[in-house]
Amino acid sequence: MIILLFGPPGCGKGTQGRLIVDWLKEWQGNAIPTISTGDMLRAEIAAGTPPGRQVQSIMAAGGLVPDDLVNAALCARIQQPDCQGGFMLDGFPRTVEQAEYLDLLLTSRSLPAPIVIHLDVPADVLVGRMVSRRQCSQCGQMFNILSKRPKVAGRCDDDGAPLIARKDDREDVIRERLRTYEELTRPVVAHYPSDRYFQISGDRSTPYIFEAITGILESVLEKGTDAARA
Ligand code: ADP
Repeated sequence: MIILLFGPPGCGKGTQGRLIVDWLKEWQGNAIPTISTGDMLRAEIAAGTPPGRQVQSIMAAGGLVPDDLVNAALCARIQQPDCQGGFMLDGFPRTVEQAEYLDLLLTSRSLPAPIVIHLDVPADVLVGRMVSRRQCSQCGQMFNILSKRPKVAGRCDDDGAPLIARKDDREDVIRERLRTYEELTRPVVAHYPSDRYFQISGDRSTPYIFEAITGILESVLEKGTDAARA
């Protein structure tokens, strides 16, 4: 199964993605990897690679990195052996061109079309969430100094590593990311057929949203492989 988690920055894709992967592992007996293009790009920046240097200022300003670069990174990633049993996309596609590229990539590899889960959240809620979120510098787990505080201030509950605010979680950059989303990313919704596209209000509690998502995935899985490939 290929799952596409779609939605504006800060809508909860990362949090729900982790829960979905664990749930699917129980259900199917095997784990699928999460492919976050944002994490891949941040890793390039941290490693100081040429693509990393190319995208650093774009990401810091809240824009989108060029389609060619991110498409090539995705193409290489899904050819890894761990993607054979399916995968979850977080943050891709973000433009109609990327969605078209993904279609070609999946068809050429005889992979099924994705199930699209769209978490929709109003912009004013997103800004508040993102300015107060903190991420573990080691494992990537997200916390929020208002709504999901760590047990020890500034430290990850799991590994004790320092929590950091992402450089692009500043209010001016957040507003630019949301503008970019409305202009370039939201139109991607029209690309997907209604029987594979599910919109959920992301302005609810984490367990509520997770239950809505698992309800959708259960019905898709119960229809069996043919339906998931249709
Ligand atoms: P968020 O969803 O909170 O914005 P991400 O980690 O998904 O966070 O993305 C961070 C940044 O990485 C984006 O603002 C953009 O600059 C870049 N990025 C990530 N994925 C893509 C993509 N598919 N296409 C273009 N740029 C991307």
